[in-house]
Amino acid sequence: MALDIKENVSLQPFNSMAVSANASTLTTVTTLSELHQALNFADDKKISTLVLGGGSNTIFENDYEGLVILNRLKGIELTHQDSDSVTVNVAAGENWHELVAYSIENGWYGLENLALIPGLVGAAPMQNIGAYGVEVKDVIVNVEYLDIDTREQKKLTNDECCFAYRESVFKSGLAGKVIITSVTFRLLKMATVNISYPSLAACFEEAPSPQQIFDAVCTIRQSKLPLPSQIPNTGSFFKNPTVEQQQHSDLKLKYPNLVSYKVGNDYKLAAGWMIEKAGWKQKSLNNVRVHDDQALVIVNPEKQSGVVVIDFANKIQQDIFIKFGVALEIEPRIYR
Ligand code: FAD
Ligand code: NAP
Repeated sequence: MALDIKENVSLQPFNSMAVSANASTLTTVTTLSELHQALNFADDKKISTLVLGGGSNTIFENDYEGLVILNRLKGIELTHQDSDSVTVNVAAGENWHELVAYSIENGWYGLENLALIPGLVGAAPMQNIGAYGVEVKDVIVNVEYLDIDTREQKKLTNDECCFAYRESVFKSGLAGKVIITSVTFRLLKMATVNISYPSLAACFEEAPSPQQIFDAVCTIRQSKLPLPSQIPNTGSFFKNPTVEQQQHSDLKLKYPNLVSYKVGNDYKLAAGWMIEKAGWKQKSLNNVRVHDDQALVIVNPEKQSGVVVIDFANKIQQDIFIKFGVALEIEPRIYR
């Protein structure tokens, strides 16, 4: 069947920051064959392509001149199991949180700390999503993708994905060159839980089950994170920066309450603490502001443009650099 290609489409419903921008063309793909058709269309028209999942980590500063492809490939397949674990291949267009819930219903464990992260499965390896002491790299076996230039279907092992804190090869060397089509996870049959994250551990008096972890993570997240459908946002707007020991000691002298965590020889600083300390919780600019319950989250209640949102973020970056000597890096992907 011929693809439905729409022209001059508003991207506001397709990005959780709800910035207003238009795509010159947009299509939705539900099969690999449609994905190939979409890429052929873009080749014929000599236009670029941009694949979107749930749009919860993407900001458009301008209109997108090209073809936006909404990846809606579906399917969850149990490909292998032994006495300890299952291997599950999940298509990129499956909803992330629904996958987490489904895995627990089936007695497959390892994803529960990552409950309620918005977006789709295909974007999870992009920035190696993480929360409450777990990163998706901990359970990924491999990632399958379509090479946009050669149209070859390829597979990268976990090591080849070069996962790091909110990073992967898909955000660096392969950025814009591939479309992730599925992700394979290895999940455990035994209920081994991770409560290394202090605010999660504080929820329990006894060792929790994966279901209890899932419920607790959902409760904590609902209590402090704004729902994008009610208050547009992209979750954490900045990565937590890492500094060397000397800079950490200097900062600790100046700010004894500085929130930081030792990571190897370095220290990870809580960017939200610095933003709050610098007084940004009280400020708004053109109706863009930081969230009352979590200063790392920038909210856009009046659905201002991407330019206005980025301008606000840049002002925070400049101020934090002046006050703390630390460069904050923006976490969501920005399309200019
Ligand atoms: P999109 O925004 O659609 O895409 C993100 C990037 O990936 C874009 O560059 C896009 O082009 C690319 N991409 C998407 N799909 C594919 C594909 N199939 N192939 C190739 N490239 C692709 N993140 C965390 O890590 N931890 C959290 O706890 C967390 N909490 C959040 C809470 C809230 C309220 C919000 C709004 C966001 C949060 N995020 C969190 C960020 C975001 O949810 C994740 O990064 C998520 O994985 C993005 O998924 P998406 O499908 O919406 O991605
Ligand atoms: P929080 O618990 O208030 O903690 C603030 C920051 O401190 C977090 O970003 C976390 O870093 C870090 N932290 C806390 N305890 C730590 C420990 N024991 N060791 C190392 N680092 C520690 O954070 P929150 O905003 O409520 O978020 C809770 C979890 O959900 C975090 O893991 C956070 O990353 C995740 N989250 C992510 C997004 C996003 O968009 N990326 C949005 C919402 C929540 P880490 O971020 O490295 O964990």
